[in-house]
Amino acid sequence: MSLNTQILVAAILGLIFGYVLNLFPNGAFFSASLYGIGIASSIFIGLLKMLLIPLIFSSIVVGVSNLQAGGQFVRVWKITVMCCITTTTLALALGLACAHLFEVGKGVDIAMFQDAMTQHQSPDTLTPSSFITNFIQNTLINPFKAFSDGNVLAVVLFALFVGVALVKGGERFKAVRSLSQQFFDIMMMMIGWVMKLAPLGIFALLAKLVATEDISVLSRLAEFAVVVTGTTIFHGAVVLPLLLWVFGKMNPITFFKGTKTALITAFATSSSSATMPLSLKCAQENLGVRPQTAGFVIPIGTQLNMDGTALYEAAAALFIANLMGLDLSLGQQLIVCLTAMIASLGAPGIPSAGMVTMIMVLQSVGLPAEAIAILLPIDRLLDTVRTVVNVQGDMMISVVVDHHTKQAAEKT
Ligand code: ASP
Repeated sequence: MSLNTQILVAAILGLIFGYVLNLFPNGAFFSASLYGIGIASSIFIGLLKMLLIPLIFSSIVVGVSNLQAGGQFVRVWKITVMCCITTTTLALALGLACAHLFEVGKGVDIAMFQDAMTQHQSPDTLTPSSFITNFIQNTLINPFKAFSDGNVLAVVLFALFVGVALVKGGERFKAVRSLSQQFFDIMMMMIGWVMKLAPLGIFALLAKLVATEDISVLSRLAEFAVVVTGTTIFHGAVVLPLLLWVFGKMNPITFFKGTKTALITAFATSSSSATMPLSLKCAQENLGVRPQTAGFVIPIGTQLNMDGTALYEAAAALFIANLMGLDLSLGQQLIVCLTAMIASLGAPGIPSAGMVTMIMVLQSVGLPAEAIAILLPIDRLLDTVRTVVNVQGDMMISVVVDHHTKQAAEKT
């Protein structure tokens, strides 16, 4: 059985096993199984996290210095930013349009959520301006602190500087450049080892998720869950593949075949950061994206490009407004889009990060932050699908960027 097939089978078995455990939540078998799958999933996630920061640092340093040396850095940067903005804007528009179309939250009795909302500890106010200030303060920091805290954005920024400096220094820094390349190759080799554990890790993660989540809570918010998940799937299955086909000249089936491992891992972990090592490997080895492009675009996209999160936040804001009987004006909806875009840029790629940045979106149009208490019980389940689309978007953008820069490089 190929690794891809093993992962698929493991995912299905994990879901079934988790469901069985969910049916018999008491007893020794449940506790022992939960303990076992807890250990297996922690080992898998732990190994991915162990490699994440050194991998991000080395892949950006190597990617940027190679792109810069080939005179392509600015072009790659511009196309990456353009793609991120375009796909996120489309996701936001889709989220709002579907929330309107299906009138999510209208007619639902808010009284049944009153308890959850009163018990919810009201979080600190999170305005766009305080968010941007925090963002800067957390990004421009001592790189060693960033490494040890696992602060992805700060590491990305520091690596960008180092990569550019390596090229500006030319021959003088040749040894550091080749050392970075070798360090990056070592990381990729280790990812290959971790991937061998992926079937077990994914089985354990999915079994744990299904065994411990109260799936019945979905029924209270069934309409919203179906609309948001359906719209997110539409974005991932129709909008992004269409863009990939038109602008990246790649057959979507080839894309999905090559990225299956990363997409299933994203579903199981709900973390685009933890999935990043696999996204990088899939893009390079299965989609043929040049290492310098993938090594630059994927780590940056993991942090900055989150279509699924943006879509979710826009739709959820409308859902809460409807639930409270408020009609958001067109101007307010534009504010929702803008803050959801900032929120998706700043959200770290970890489970339920979108819920935290969501507070800013709600407050931007005067909705109470406590309202996230309504969505919290179902968030971990909805997070699975939006993380898949976040990760898919990163790999897709790397294909589009590579297609355009490869052509330019061949012409010169
Ligand atoms: N879990 C998502 C991710 O890692 C972020 C979110 O909560 O929306 O991409």
